[in-house]
Amino acid sequence: MLADNLQVVKEKIEVSLRNRKEAKQTGNYVTLVAVTKNHAPEVITEALSLGVECIGENRVQEAKHKKDVLPVGGKWHLIGHLQTNKVRQAVALFDLIESVDSERLLAVINEEAARIGKVQDVLLQLNIAKEEQKTGFSREEYLDILTKLDDYKNINVRGLMVIAQACTDVEETRPVFAAGYRCFCRLKEERVGIDCLSMGMSNDYTVAIEEGANMVRVGTALFGQRDYGLKF
Ligand SMILES: *Cc1c(COP(=O)(O)O)cnc(C)c1O
Repeated sequence: MLADNLQVVKEKIEVSLRNRKEAKQTGNYVTLVAVTKNHAPEVITEALSLGVECIGENRVQEAKHKKDVLPVGGKWHLIGHLQTNKVRQAVALFDLIESVDSERLLAVINEEAARIGKVQDVLLQLNIAKEEQKTGFSREEYLDILTKLDDYKNINVRGLMVIAQACTDVEETRPVFAAGYRCFCRLKEERVGIDCLSMGMSNDYTVAIEEGANMVRVGTALFGQRDYGLKF
């Protein structure tokens, strides 16, 4: 079943790339992040065996448990809000922290990465949809933080992460993703090494790709409904 779902998602990614109205500065490829939160560790093994390269988890503790019981493999992305008291573990566990949403968090990640001699790849999460419950930098905070990024020697900013609002008509997400793409282009003009624009989940990844995403975070469309009864 996962193999079939993966095939469908990959085909839709290809179609969405072809549907772009213009060439994008994010390149002509998409990295699929398979979101395995609230699924058993075995699904990660299966996904990796089918050629998936990136695993997305939203909780540090759950990811730690899974990495402890699984053989080494895959690139691990943190996609959920990170509390500063979990940063030490997160820096040890994740190849890419997609959900950096405050200056305080940047500072703590920098400190913990320096402690273990790592340069931590991160994305800055932007709050473009402006939903109350969603975390992320506001436009003002983002412009402010851009001037300070060079102070964080043990952080490598690779790009941006955007979550669209939940909505009944997926077309409503298009302006949010288009705004995310414009922010990406501006960031790329200002800094070297900017190559990731992570936008789109199961419901809206096709629209996100059309608008310029080169990284999508897909869970349900690959693995089915999550089991919130699982404890890690
Ligand atoms: C859970 C989650 C996803 C995946 O959501 P699906 O709708 O299952 O594809 C993507 N991004 C983030 C930030 C998430 O928390």
